[in-house]
Amino acid sequence: MNKRVLKPIVLAVGMALGIGAAGAASNFDMSDLNKNVNPCQDFNGYVNAKWLAANPIPADRSSWGAFDKLAEDSLATQHQIVEDAAKNAASAKSGSIEQKIGWYYSSGMDAAAINKAGYDPIKPELAKIDALKSPGDIVAYLNDSFARGEGDLFNFGRAADYKHSETQIAYAFQGGLSLPTRDYYLKTDADSVKLRKAFTDHVAKMLELTGVPAAAAQKQASDVLAFETRLAKASLSPVDLRKPENQYHFVSVADADKVTPRFSWDDFIKAQGAHVTNGFSLSQPAFFAEVGKMLGDVPAAQWQAYLRYHAIEDASPVLSDAFQNAHFDFYGKTLIGQKEIKPRWKRVLGEINSDEHGMGMALGELYVAKEFPPEAKARAEVLVDNVRNALKARIENLDWMSAETKQKAIEKWNTFLPKIGYPDKWRDWSGLELTPDNYYANVAAATKFDYQYEMSKVGTPTDRHEWGMTPQTVNAYYNPTDNTINFPAAILQPPFFYANGDDAINYGGIGAVIGHESSHGYDDEGSQFDAQGNNVNWWTKADRDKFDARTQVLVNQFNGYSPLPGLHVNGQLTLGENIGDLGGLNAAYDALQVALKNNPKEAAEKIDGMTEDQRFFLNWARVWRENMRPELMKVLVNSNPHAPAEFRAIGAPSNMTAFASAFQCKAGDKMVRSGAQQVKIW
Ligand SMILES: [Zn+2]
Repeated sequence: MNKRVLKPIVLAVGMALGIGAAGAASNFDMSDLNKNVNPCQDFNGYVNAKWLAANPIPADRSSWGAFDKLAEDSLATQHQIVEDAAKNAASAKSGSIEQKIGWYYSSGMDAAAINKAGYDPIKPELAKIDALKSPGDIVAYLNDSFARGEGDLFNFGRAADYKHSETQIAYAFQGGLSLPTRDYYLKTDADSVKLRKAFTDHVAKMLELTGVPAAAAQKQASDVLAFETRLAKASLSPVDLRKPENQYHFVSVADADKVTPRFSWDDFIKAQGAHVTNGFSLSQPAFFAEVGKMLGDVPAAQWQAYLRYHAIEDASPVLSDAFQNAHFDFYGKTLIGQKEIKPRWKRVLGEINSDEHGMGMALGELYVAKEFPPEAKARAEVLVDNVRNALKARIENLDWMSAETKQKAIEKWNTFLPKIGYPDKWRDWSGLELTPDNYYANVAAATKFDYQYEMSKVGTPTDRHEWGMTPQTVNAYYNPTDNTINFPAAILQPPFFYANGDDAINYGGIGAVIGHESSHGYDDEGSQFDAQGNNVNWWTKADRDKFDARTQVLVNQFNGYSPLPGLHVNGQLTLGENIGDLGGLNAAYDALQVALKNNPKEAAEKIDGMTEDQRFFLNWARVWRENMRPELMKVLVNSNPHAPAEFRAIGAPSNMTAFASAFQCKAGDKMVRSGAQQVKIW
């Protein structure tokens, strides 16, 4: 139950690594600085090298840095919450979220019962798959498994209509792959070939765990790879998927049926219980056309192998140890270099926090009550206002943009909705029935409950106050279709935010995050959505051309970064995030200058021998300190729109004259990009 159901398109600041709560003793420990490194040559090394050397990655993680540390701290808080909930579940109010979370957690911790059950919980599902004989049987199975929230092959969910953002519609989206991107199936270099071999070995192993004989398991594993390779060939790359026109393709149900003659969208949508009136987004028609063809020309046995493997893999995190360990061996150890499986309590919390079958928002309700004081929210609101105002002034003062486009940009600025901490209204969990002692049944119930919730939103008005991230997530996001910027409670703490800290540290941390999310509204992707969240052009041709010329320099800058031998950052894939960082850090810096003007005492004094401007950039680099296993680095560079942290620490500052001034860097220094190399966008 590891589904990747479509989420509304969101542009986050980090890599959604987890969750948070911390208390640092001081705002910035100057002994962290490596005085042997020249900040003008290697700012990341200057700020982070000592810390990186002294803080190896824990065995049960594949990266370790500021985000990861907060995520672990948050997990520790959540651990306490769920342990208490489990202890008190029997006496808790019947049907309360405390009771449901308590049962979810304690059933997941009951290793004896889970191991005793083996793979019994999925035997009925495997029997259904064994019985599929014809394309009609397969289609009926897909309709049914999707309706339970267990569908494979593609993603089906809801999001705002890109062209009428006030209403939510259904989206069918490419999916169905086990490996991170299409390239993993198609590249012929030795590493890629080796990984595919590891993958088919893993598939065979999973099948054998359910009693498939070894030879048959090998055959089915190669069928799975062949099947997914066809899907991969018809899939778009992560770079192409960033284009709004590749995310949205509105069709009537009748026209969708023409794309997939063997698959009735009318039947499918009815089975999902979604209220579709005029049509829906068949987002990547070429992908679905291929799926339609596969219903006609892929033998039933190959379909069965694919569906069987996915049924096992998806369920494996909640089955017996044999399955959980095998899942970890490939997806943890091989793919992302994690050394040890996480302790059970973290794995169960991972399920509870899952988007598709969790109760993350319910846990968030308990988390916020424990962790997030109203004073923190009040100070964060001031920071948000100041950074947003600075961004507005920057737009007004741009020397390259016409008054006409500026007016539209300001119109968009006016409709931004910042949300801080947690939702005003919590989700209703009544109707979700859990039991004290059956983990699999609980996860299945939560999966179905969540899917039905998503489907119930199709055809309803877009709610700008809904959150797409839980409060315990150490991250933030911008949603272009409702023009909201969102800052979960867990990121509003050190080192991002000190409720009583000096302005320089706060603006270099959370201030830059606020600027980053706001700037997403104007990055290469977000700027294709208007003030109302509709995907329409509001630019003059000349201004768009100037924008593209400027962003191309940023693409080139990041193309030049290489985290590992032979591995290069993809400047096009990471462009939106890099625009966000550059615009955001500039806006946060300007906001700091306004704050310092209002507080001349702080402006004049040095703290720990550092000026406020220096401290601003020090904290920016500090939040991007991160050790990462090379395996994970490869996956992220190939698939994730965020550049590796070490380059985020230096990428934006190296384009800022304010950075060079703060550290007295000169033209020619590595951290000083000047002339045609210096990127100025927002
Ligand atoms: Zn971002």
